[in-house]
Amino acid sequence: MQIPALRSGGIIVTYRCTNRCGHCLYNSGPHRSRDYIEQQELLGCLETLRDLGCASVHIGGGEPFLNRAGLKMTLQFCQTFGMNVDYVETNGVWHCNHEQSVRQLLALKEAGLRRLLVSISPMHNACVPFRKTKGVLAACREARIEVFPWAMDFYEDLEKLDENTLHELDEFEERLGPDYRCRILERYWTHLGGRALKTFRDCFPAKAAEEIARDNGSCLELESTDHFHLDLHGNYIPGLCSGLSIRRQDLGRTLDPDLYPLLTALHEQGVGALLELGRSEFGFVPNPQGYISKCDLCTDIRGYLVRVKDVRAVELQPLGFYAGG
Ligand code: SF4
Repeated sequence: MQIPALRSGGIIVTYRCTNRCGHCLYNSGPHRSRDYIEQQELLGCLETLRDLGCASVHIGGGEPFLNRAGLKMTLQFCQTFGMNVDYVETNGVWHCNHEQSVRQLLALKEAGLRRLLVSISPMHNACVPFRKTKGVLAACREARIEVFPWAMDFYEDLEKLDENTLHELDEFEERLGPDYRCRILERYWTHLGGRALKTFRDCFPAKAAEEIARDNGSCLELESTDHFHLDLHGNYIPGLCSGLSIRRQDLGRTLDPDLYPLLTALHEQGVGALLELGRSEFGFVPNPQGYISKCDLCTDIRGYLVRVKDVRAVELQPLGFYAGG
């Protein structure tokens, strides 16, 4: 397996977030470390992007705004390097009042901020009052920063509940229908990995691990670079397979199977090979309740290896992904 070129992706500047969103692919949250990308690592990321043919990138997390100085440095550095920043993601929780938000946005605009992806969803509304989201949208208008609302389709739903308080997904279900949670998946691009596996588990039938292993071959998704991420720790996250990683310096060349045995097995044979290895070498016992997808099974096996068997490997990073929460 190798990643010879990069198409479209982002840099995860921190895994820490104020929110514990139910769909978060990276298990970000307030329990994650405060670490934020440092200049040296950022330079490495930008050089890797340039060398592998990627001319622009987005800045994501975690919540990038948790370290305003770090975000400013990131934007300025990208600008100086000549790397286009498509957008910066935010959950908008930092909004206090209009004047202050406009001032903060103008300072970031000077550093290179042109477009802000503002999260708008029932999952975010469990941690961010809609009043704040609206405040960020208004501040962007005044600061003349383009907004990438993600996703506007939920604006009307959020308007139906008190904008000053927080609302769990259960409340949306009570107010807007019992199938509300599962219908989110038709309205909002959600990758079923990380915390989304738990939040949306009941929307899918469960199958036995053996059946999933039998029906799924090589994980060619690992090669996809359509929405890749590099992180602050020097990891490249292959495909959307959170919790799996390739060291940034190993991109562009064939991966050493001795250093990446799990990735190699998944890429060549699929999750069945991981199941076999988990069982034979580590005593993994599949959940008798079954799994909703191959990625669900894959995540469970990897979690067992890291949490129960203390396996430490360059391909099972960042460890914070497996820390629960
Ligand atoms: S089974 Fe594992 S390696 Fe394969 S696509 Fe899912 S998360 Fe990625």
